[in-house]
Amino acid sequence: MSHIYQPVMIKKLLLSEGKAHKSEIAQEILSFDSSQVEYYEKVTNNMVGRVLRSHDIVEKEKNHYTLKNYKNLSPKEIEEIIQLCETKIQEYLKKRGMAIWEHRRRNRKPISGSVRYQVLKRAYGRCELCGVSKEEKALEVDHIVPKNLGGEDSINNYQALCFTCNANKRDTDNTDFRELEGYYNTKDTTCIFCNGNFQKIFENNLAFSFLDRYPVTNFHTLIIPKRHCSTFFDLTQAELNAIYGLAQKVKEQIIAKDSSVGGFNIGFNAEEAAGQTVNHCHMHVIPRRKGDVENPIGGIRNVIAGKGQY
Ligand code: AMP
Ligand code: ZN
Repeated sequence: MSHIYQPVMIKKLLLSEGKAHKSEIAQEILSFDSSQVEYYEKVTNNMVGRVLRSHDIVEKEKNHYTLKNYKNLSPKEIEEIIQLCETKIQEYLKKRGMAIWEHRRRNRKPISGSVRYQVLKRAYGRCELCGVSKEEKALEVDHIVPKNLGGEDSINNYQALCFTCNANKRDTDNTDFRELEGYYNTKDTTCIFCNGNFQKIFENNLAFSFLDRYPVTNFHTLIIPKRHCSTFFDLTQAELNAIYGLAQKVKEQIIAKDSSVGGFNIGFNAEEAAGQTVNHCHMHVIPRRKGDVENPIGGIRNVIAGKGQY
């Protein structure tokens, strides 16, 4: 919605005799941000609306709220109640200062413009949870694993979220924090990948890569999450990003080292029926070279012998 910022600001200034406080201009811009309005509609329904209904002060019919007994109030009473509300608001604002808006400043350490740009570019300008485009809703850069749970400040741990998804995520995160503690440190004492002493080639907070001990082709590499989980389907979005980030590095390094590499097969075997032998999720990065097999057609389709060609 950035294309309306200028007219909104100029209009606000014109309507305020040429001068306005930055917070007044911000309020004006805010009134056009439907995603934020949506967020406060949820607050209205789930919090304040619910409480006022339970105290029999308001009624709800479909999407409308009605103040009970409004019709019986005299103009003087209405004026008095408005004053009472205003006093309560002012008391609270005074007591808390601007801290009342603190919950809105979620990215305490600002994420630099260039990193933000890279994250939005990688997300192709869409929210990575609901898919809404940046033209429809403002996108924010979010820490996938929150910083207080050890989430790193790196592009692998960032995702583009629209205001609504980010707000919802934060609400859930607040309740889930304690359960999540230690989640990414889960190990299985019987697992060879959890307990092996591998020569790591690349590593980030949630994943690392090493050479496969029994390579299918030269430089056959495995990328695994640090947390023990058995298949691709158990990975979290943060781990997917972490593994994806390492896959890019592994690929770059292999093609830099070996100019004969002309392609890759990337894959996860999930469950015994699909041929998985080590029960700790791993991505195979298998470099391919022209002529390494007689007929490469179909690539991973050849997991079922003879089905490569279709
Ligand atoms: P999968 O059959 O998809 O479960 O793949 C397991 C992979 O792990 C195989 O490609 C093995 O060669 C590889 N592998 C097994 N043990 C080790 C080890 N100790 N170090 C490195 N790679 C291993
Ligand atoms: Zn494991």
